[in-house]
Amino acid sequence: MCGIVGYLGHRQAYEILIQGLHRLEYRGYDSAGVALINDDCNLNVYKTRGKVSNLEQSADGKDTNGTVGIAHTRWATHGEPNDVNAHPQLSQSRSIALVHNGTIENYSVLKKALIQHGYSFESDTDTEVLVQLIEFIKITNGCSTLDAVTEALHQVEGAYAIAVIEDGDPDTLIVARKSSPLVIGVGDGETFIASDATPIVGFTDKVVYLQDDEIAVIRRGKPLQVLSLKDNKPSKINIQTLKLSLAQLEKGGYDTFMLKEIFEQPATLRDCLRGRIVDDCNRVVLSGVEINKDKFLNARRIVLVACGTSWHAALIGKRLIQEMCGIPVEVEYASEFRYSNPCLTKDDIVISISQSGETADTLAAIQLAREKGAFVYGICNVVGASIPRNTDSGTYIHVGPEIGVASTKAFTGQVTVLVLLALCVGQLRGTILPQTVHDVAKALTELPETIEKTLRLDSKIQELSRIFTYAHNFLYLGRGYNYPTALEGALKLKEISYIHAEGYPAAEMKHGPIALIDHEMPSVIIAPSDSLYDKIISNVQQVKARGGSVIAIVSKGNRAMADIADYCLEIPEVPECLSPIVASIPLQLLAYHIAVNKGKNVDMPRNLAKSVTVE
Ligand code: GLU
Repeated sequence: MCGIVGYLGHRQAYEILIQGLHRLEYRGYDSAGVALINDDCNLNVYKTRGKVSNLEQSADGKDTNGTVGIAHTRWATHGEPNDVNAHPQLSQSRSIALVHNGTIENYSVLKKALIQHGYSFESDTDTEVLVQLIEFIKITNGCSTLDAVTEALHQVEGAYAIAVIEDGDPDTLIVARKSSPLVIGVGDGETFIASDATPIVGFTDKVVYLQDDEIAVIRRGKPLQVLSLKDNKPSKINIQTLKLSLAQLEKGGYDTFMLKEIFEQPATLRDCLRGRIVDDCNRVVLSGVEINKDKFLNARRIVLVACGTSWHAALIGKRLIQEMCGIPVEVEYASEFRYSNPCLTKDDIVISISQSGETADTLAAIQLAREKGAFVYGICNVVGASIPRNTDSGTYIHVGPEIGVASTKAFTGQVTVLVLLALCVGQLRGTILPQTVHDVAKALTELPETIEKTLRLDSKIQELSRIFTYAHNFLYLGRGYNYPTALEGALKLKEISYIHAEGYPAAEMKHGPIALIDHEMPSVIIAPSDSLYDKIISNVQQVKARGGSVIAIVSKGNRAMADIADYCLEIPEVPECLSPIVASIPLQLLAYHIAVNKGKNVDMPRNLAKSVTVE
């Protein structure tokens, strides 16, 4: 994953790069570094293990002058996070500096060949191989750096977004991409590059999304040049207008991005629903579905592919689509699907779900699905990301930038879009009663207020969290629509508090996990008043009979569970298919408060990064 940022213009680059790294830190934060060319045309490189703030401390008092530079915040794939493995990586003569997001898969073969040519390596990274290769080609072929970068990229296999600068040349910045994102911000006499648009916001709203297999050359005082890496011919430059504001990127008075994102869910769901429910709640419109009506009318099967939290949303989507549209649905981890030689036909629809739209495995999965002739639909948050650009059609969840590494508002947005999609397709196919469309659509329009009410549980959950802060294990149980909610609740706790937690279908517990239950192992039961409520009651009795304490999420006014569970959190009653959205709110808050009680950094949990743009 990791984030890269670069600048060439008339301002001092350092401040812009550091600010950009802070905005990209959600992508990785185990080490950070910067390379600048100063006014005497000398290359200065500073890098260190740890967060961007560590880099700022270590560069303090050093020469950070220069109007061109590149910077990196890392999530290690090759080589442990330490000062030497941090980027920028340098060539043998230390004159070429490169930052990289991605993985070079054939790095060990290339490394061996370079060692035979007398090259030596300082780091354990795959990235150093690329920068050494560039210099090797430049010297051997006697060519320009641009040609050497182009040739080196022909020789590497894998994924990359790179930025390159060279000692003695303060007027050129070279960038290229394949399978890792890269955005170029075109300002007035200045150019910005970054892994996503956030470092560019506030400087310019004109952006170019570099495409796979493209290389761009930014030269001082010259127009941007973009070339195809395949045939070296100029590519068409498509300048787009960015619709992101600075306010959307800030914490807005909350202690953390995660808490802000939890609390803004009433607003984000309002944005997600805007314009999609019409005719007094009697019709749902999703343009991505309507313009491809035939595909959905004739669909033989739907395959949902996703990773992590999005995979949990996909599990809910399966139930929704099967129930409302009568189409068989499969759910696949994108990372498994891409290597599974799936049987797909033109009558299959593959729906990919990804917050960032850059998840490497999901991207590879949809490429495979397209090669096999399936119709590919994307559900994504980040406008203009790689997944929406590589699908036949799709729907944005429109929940605004999600910065906290643990997904909250994107999950509820994804589930909401899946409900809308199931309703919309169900209407088209005539597989859903008009009354059901009306009831669910009406409840959806009320969802922002419902979530507002649910968020009032916060202080109660904060109190409750103190009792469980030092538990070592948790079990999360749910059934039906809320089995995936249990998985998602457990994942939230693991991600930010580092407590082991397992999500399980409540009735399956007796086939194994029940052996773990004792007075030290709390269970969180997601049990709104739905069609499986009575069943789950008996599952809870089984936990209680073995001395485990139970926190139950129940519908308001529910009494039966209150007599059994140790703690009850009441949520508003909604149609069954919407209950995962509402029930996930107290689970987000519980995980959040436990993590804060333990003194953890909830926005940047250890070993994780926000969008997984590597395999
Ligand atoms: N493969 C590079 C490294 O380990 C970049 C990692 C990344 O993009 O996350 O340093």
